[in-house]
Amino acid sequence: MPATCPCRVLDEQKLSYAQCCQPFHLGRTQKTVLPQTAEALMRSRYSAFVQLLPQYLLETWHESTRPEELELDEDLVWTGLEVVKARAGGAGANRGVVEFIAHYGRGANAGSQREVSTFVRQDGAWYYVDAL
Ligand SMILES: [Zn+2]
Repeated sequence: MPATCPCRVLDEQKLSYAQCCQPFHLGRTQKTVLPQTAEALMRSRYSAFVQLLPQYLLETWHESTRPEELELDEDLVWTGLEVVKARAGGAGANRGVVEFIAHYGRGANAGSQREVSTFVRQDGAWYYVDAL
């Protein structure tokens, strides 16, 4: 059985990476396969942190808040994602807000980060804007 997608480890629905975030990671540059909701984009960005894909994170970061470059902390191991609440951000929306908890480990320590992120859709593609 293929491995569960990083963003689905805590879900009952154990979609594989190929069924979940990988098509977004592979299709972003050509914009061939795009997440249709803010939550799907957020999941794909979480998975990109897990898979160490800084380029995907930059490409899905809105230009108004995007850093020049992004260095990922390779000592941090992301262990699971819980989506607490998604507001708007559906297939017909242009703005969305997603509240989530990301779990991680660093060495012997474990922790979690709770965040409320905002997203906008521009020319059909969702972008991460900032955290409230
Ligand atoms: Zn996923």
